[in-house]
Amino acid sequence: MRLALLADIHSNLEALGACLAHARRQGVDGYALLGDLLGYNADPLACLDIVAELADHGAVVLAGNHDVACLGGLCENMSFHAREAIYWTRAQLGAPQRGFLAGLPLTAAHGLATLAHASPDQPDRWQYISGGSTARRAFDACATPLVFVGHVHHTLLYFTSANGEPRSFQPVPGTPVPLSALRRWLLIVGAVGQPRDGLSAACYAIHDGGAGTLTSYRVPYDCAAAARKVRAAGLPERLALRLEAGR
Ligand code: ZN
Repeated sequence: MRLALLADIHSNLEALGACLAHARRQGVDGYALLGDLLGYNADPLACLDIVAELADHGAVVLAGNHDVACLGGLCENMSFHAREAIYWTRAQLGAPQRGFLAGLPLTAAHGLATLAHASPDQPDRWQYISGGSTARRAFDACATPLVFVGHVHHTLLYFTSANGEPRSFQPVPGTPVPLSALRRWLLIVGAVGQPRDGLSAACYAIHDGGAGTLTSYRVPYDCAAAARKVRAAGLPERLALRLEAGR
């Protein structure tokens, strides 16, 4: 099975559409959406319509911290700009959207993989995997050889080394990484809707279960259009600028 992994869509319709079109061209036969469907950008309803349609056709859809916050969860520890977008998004959602979001799990099992938005170690605490020790706790929290997460907004691939210590590297976009069955692998999928590594192009990845490979992708999209919608919605200017700057 070729599974497209999309994380941190963050209400960015242009980025989501570009990644889904790219994934279709690669011939994927399934989708896993790793949370943070909402927040930051200006198209929550259109993005949720697409996500709900994918879910109807078997996609795995998880909730992220921004989705939970949009349902009324705590957001006081978020940045000012993130909070402003949460408050704006809450006002856009109707009962059908809230019902859909309320039914989303925080983690899921899919074949040989554990899926989560943040670390699968206490997933409701939204911990960032930011180095060897947090990666180790994420591996320890599940038994599967593969772990796919989002939340960090940077693409990074961890693997267990011979002494058990996790190491990491940044996969080259478009180049399949063979996943040795002798190791465990944890992919942090970069953000579809708000990349933060200095490139505006959207991030997503494909896991090819048959070939035993992971491929990350960068997909250019109309970030100027997405930024215009952020401004038109009255969301903070910083949120528009960072789409174009990719940081
Ligand atoms: Zn996010």
